[in-house]
Amino acid sequence: MKITIIAGARPNFIKIAPIINAIKKKQNEGFIISFRLVHTGQHYDKNLSETFFEELNIPQPDINLEVKSGTQAEQTGAIMVAFEKELIQNPSDLVLVVGDVNSTMACAIVAKKCNTKVAHVEAGIRSGDLTMPEEINRMVTDSITDYFFTTSTSASENLLKFGAKSSNIHFVGNVMIDTLYQNLDRISAPDFWNEYDLKEKNYIILTLHRPANVDEENSLLHLLRGIDNMVVDKKIIFPIHPRTKAILKETDLAFKNIVFVSPQGYLNFMFLIKNSFAVITDSGGISEETTVMGVPCFTMRDNTERPETETIGTNTIVGTSFENLKKIFNLFLENGGKKSGIPELWDGKASERIISILLDKK
Ligand code: UDP
Repeated sequence: MKITIIAGARPNFIKIAPIINAIKKKQNEGFIISFRLVHTGQHYDKNLSETFFEELNIPQPDINLEVKSGTQAEQTGAIMVAFEKELIQNPSDLVLVVGDVNSTMACAIVAKKCNTKVAHVEAGIRSGDLTMPEEINRMVTDSITDYFFTTSTSASENLLKFGAKSSNIHFVGNVMIDTLYQNLDRISAPDFWNEYDLKEKNYIILTLHRPANVDEENSLLHLLRGIDNMVVDKKIIFPIHPRTKAILKETDLAFKNIVFVSPQGYLNFMFLIKNSFAVITDSGGISEETTVMGVPCFTMRDNTERPETETIGTNTIVGTSFENLKKIFNLFLENGGKKSGIPELWDGKASERIISILLDKK
């Protein structure tokens, strides 16, 4: 079986690493399975791309389509044009896409139109929020996917509601958590750990990159100034995403407690999360990682496509206003974090399940 694996952006790299490890394991066991790795070039900064390949031992891509930035349509269109040529030159039995970025949707469409089967890892999750490009990517991808791999039974149920055949839906667990378990004993403190006198539970991690939080400079500054004053005795470490950095000016960066650092590599970032007092974020992936590590997480969004991080895990959805965050965060300071558990099948074995199922399908 020949699989084309697609990766374009930071969260994709983290998700394909354990899938490639699972393929290599099957190859060592004598199964006939090979892969071609396509990097679409959607994320191209060293610290959003190359660092993850190095740290997670992902092989060099067979090709980089180098699409880079653009509007939603420009980027999606550029990926489709480039990937169509690639797939015609290098046909495969199956195109495997992960997550919900533009590369996920664009390559799924191309594959399906070339009569190639599509597997979607992290299928079926839904926020119902069509103002987010990711939700559109999820819906379009799942409408043409052949094999759905889900992280929760609620994602599987969403797919059934949308008319997918139950025999094609496989609840396998979470590949992002496979990567976490595979690397927990390799995580390490970043260079600035001593410089800022960081210690277990004496700092908060902040990440923000969604348009609703960062695209308008004044409301971003209102949010950051509020967060800066919200906790008196803790540093707030803010690995700043290039998208967020592009909005802020140098003069905006003077804060009491917030410390701006560059986007972190995976091993340093997981160390920072694991040892933090709490996390404030608008990321989906981080709410899964904090759930597994038992770290309180406050998500600055109005909804989530990952409800189990809230119903079972440590996540609390706080909306996008600082005032609401402050209210909920103060309650947490008074009462402590909520009791949490780990969602079903988030056990580090999702990728192995996926590859075994795909080998059976052949
Ligand atoms: N991440 C990282 N360094 C950082 C920020 C994030 O390694 O400075 C990792 C982390 O594992 C997270 C993943 O990147 O789960 C994806 O984060 P992002 O917020 O970019 O994407 P989303 O989860 O919102 O799709």
